Amino acid sequence: MGSLGLYNLRKEYPGKSDEEIARLLADKYGYVAVVRYKNSPDSSDFTNLGCCGTQDKLDGYFSSPYCHNTEIVYDGRQQSLFITEALVRQAKCDLCQKPTTEASLTLLGGDDYYVCSCGRFFCDRCYLTRLPLTDPAGGYGMCPECRKEVKRAVVGVYVS
Ligand SMILES: [Zn+2]
Ligand SMILES: [Zn+2]
Repeated sequence: MGSLGLYNLRKEYPGKSDEEIARLLADKYGYVAVVRYKNSPDSSDFTNLGCCGTQDKLDGYFSSPYCHNTEIVYDGRQQSLFITEALVRQAKCDLCQKPTTEASLTLLGGDDYYVCSCGRFFCDRCYLTRLPLTDPAGGYGMCPECRKEVKRAVVGVYVS
């Protein structure tokens, strides 16, 4: 899900402001920032919400020729962990202590790690074999401490 029509969202969430709707969507889907914009320079009101999980995506809404008067209506970046190259380089698996390698800097490079917003990293192997699951019948791996779903540690991504 990327861009959503505000007209329908306002009907779906009656009585809520755009900021409140943005926050609800961010909480529900784990977005770190939500913008609103007009899809035409002539629109009298904001027409769309753009949901962002990365800084690139957020920057994209501000530079796109299809987005006008773009402004941030929800900003959860401060409460999130931003994955940098330095962070990945110094990380090790919280369970087996295996350190990351050069390959861990590349998604699907052969040595992927998973990360929780608390800062704990987990190697591929422990992710598959040792993490509790969001759904025992085949869900996603969760941080054993926070019981929150962990995300692939990709440089440039926010984890909330
Ligand atoms: Zn491990
Ligand atoms: Zn955690």
